[in-house]
Amino acid sequence: MKDSLLRLLNLQRIDTELDKLKKVQTDHPEAISDLHARLKTAKQAVEDKKQQAAELEKTRRQLEGELETIQAELKKHQDRLYEVKTNREYDALQIEIEVLRNRADENETIILEGIEQHDELKTMLEEEERAYEALEADYLSQIQDLQNRLDMVEGEASGWREERSVAEEHVDRPILSNYDRIRRVVKDGVAVVPIGKGSCGGCFRQLPPQRHMEVRRQDRIIRCENCGRILVWREES
Ligand SMILES: [Zn+2]
Repeated sequence: MKDSLLRLLNLQRIDTELDKLKKVQTDHPEAISDLHARLKTAKQAVEDKKQQAAELEKTRRQLEGELETIQAELKKHQDRLYEVKTNREYDALQIEIEVLRNRADENETIILEGIEQHDELKTMLEEEERAYEALEADYLSQIQDLQNRLDMVEGEASGWREERSVAEEHVDRPILSNYDRIRRVVKDGVAVVPIGKGSCGGCFRQLPPQRHMEVRRQDRIIRCENCGRILVWREES
């Protein structure tokens, strides 16, 4: 029984390593896709700003076209001032010219505001593009690290699995099935722990002296009354 318990402790050590690798296989792909998603969102924000800047440019060109038309119209009106015969016609023409001038002024103001807005946006965009590039470099290197780790896991796991199949052979069947059952229910998959300083190595609850003696005898399986783990005595205990 004593050897079986120590072998069980060894089996637990191997299973703990295998569990860690399994966790990497679950967690790393998630972390990788999370980084990709965050990168995509950041890129979209930059693209949106670019789009906004392009819209402003388009509006400005349109307004400049309109301004040219207004100015041509204004020139025509001004030329006609020399051709009118009556004061009434002259006054009417003056009013139309005034209206056109006001429209041209308004148009120019909007164009200037648009240019200012575009310049601000462009400065912001340049900053954001630089920030995005830094973020991209950082995230891609993180993704690479995670992927590298992930690529190694399967190889490591198969090594541990080989070691496990050897270790398992030397543990008595009933103890093994007990161990497997407990492993399924305990939170971290640790079903067997050494006792240390008179306490359970899993939940650290102090053992009653009677229990402590029973574990030390090593003639049957003793489980922690608090967490249910199998307790194993080691000489250094
Ligand atoms: Zn315990």
